[in-house]
Amino acid sequence: MALLIGCIADDLTGATDVAVTFSREGLSVIQVNGVPDATLKVPEADAIVVALKSRTIAAPGAVAQSLAALDWLRRRDARHIYFKICSTFDSTPAGNIGPVGDALCEAIGARLNVVTPAYPRNARTVYQGHLFVGEALLSDTGMRTHPLTPMTDSNLVHVLASQTRHRVGLLPSAVVAQGQDAVAAKLAALGDEGCRHVIADAIDDAQLQTLGAAVTPRMLATGGAGLAAGMAATLRAKTETSRAAAIDWPRGPGVILAGSCSTATLGQLAKVKDTLPQRQLDPIELAKDPGTTQATIDWARQQLGDKPVLIYASAAPEQVAAAQAALGRDRAAQVVEDALREIASALAAAGVNRFVVAGGETSGAVVEALGVRALAIGPEIAPGVPWTRAADGKPYALALKSGNFGGPDFFTRAFEVAP
Ligand code: ADP
Repeated sequence: MALLIGCIADDLTGATDVAVTFSREGLSVIQVNGVPDATLKVPEADAIVVALKSRTIAAPGAVAQSLAALDWLRRRDARHIYFKICSTFDSTPAGNIGPVGDALCEAIGARLNVVTPAYPRNARTVYQGHLFVGEALLSDTGMRTHPLTPMTDSNLVHVLASQTRHRVGLLPSAVVAQGQDAVAAKLAALGDEGCRHVIADAIDDAQLQTLGAAVTPRMLATGGAGLAAGMAATLRAKTETSRAAAIDWPRGPGVILAGSCSTATLGQLAKVKDTLPQRQLDPIELAKDPGTTQATIDWARQQLGDKPVLIYASAAPEQVAAAQAALGRDRAAQVVEDALREIASALAAAGVNRFVVAGGETSGAVVEALGVRALAIGPEIAPGVPWTRAADGKPYALALKSGNFGGPDFFTRAFEVAP
């Protein structure tokens, strides 16, 4: 069976988002966490998604990881390579969407990289190169104050241009609306003008289908789960899909670990404020008193039972700003991630086998702590957020949520729909 598409995702929840999208579109999917080493055995699949943790690390590291993943996927004869980025284009002027895109183009010999984070199903649309979340421009949303990748400019042509020395063009919605041939002609023209990257508008699913069909003949494309879905519709015709093996789901105690400070997560936490046993982690406290993490673990062990136990560092922008002022941005994030890592492994040792994690970076840290390398995709809790089952012998079910994903009742719903 041919590997129709090899996907390099710049964070873990983004990887899961694209994996579930391929799965929903009828492709068989395996998700691998971290750059796979040569010895890792994975079942054959139409799509393999490699989840990196490269969104916010220094650009050279992100490039190196992405090229290593590319190499592994190409050894499996991947017909296409998809660079999966966040649907809110999370990045900084230093990268990493530009540097990784440049490196992939060079390694593959691709002339043009079509880029769009549009995902209308999750209310992300791109029009005239500007990214909207619902009715608001990206820069007018909570992303403006994101702890790691504050997005203050909604014009993605500008944002990407600041990350690459190559030219960035625009494929406007008016052209996409004319269909695949018009798109192909415009892309050829932009390539002739010297563009290396092209931000593609897409305001609805029909436009993503058109883009998907237009980019599938190319070796490389970049985007959110939306463009991946558009491509999957074209790739599906080539699949020899096997049945996914029946998944054996664990039923033991559950825990919710939240490190996301996104607006959606804060709302979801408010909803379970009075119903779950819970503790908040304060980065300043964590930095001051190393015993805080152990005390939290001891407390949580006493609480394990029918109800999931909630441990969160998530905080409102003022509190985040105070922690960052006291510790610096990176150290504030680091103490939180370290604490959640330690808590996850201690609670796993105490018998917890169902983990709901809120936050992309946070999920990366927790999965790393649990040592999970490969995941099988299960039922969706919210669009783009499925339950997953460790596919490498570990006894865990995991729901990994990008901060902004899920409705207000996400945490309750997660355990209601748990298989
Ligand atoms: P999202 O998916 O919402 O972007 P992430 O987990 O990717 O969530 O990013 C949130 C970052 O904020 C993490 O690095 C986390 O450690 C950090 N963080 C969490 N709580 C706090 C806090 N109270 N103060 C400062 N940083 C925090």
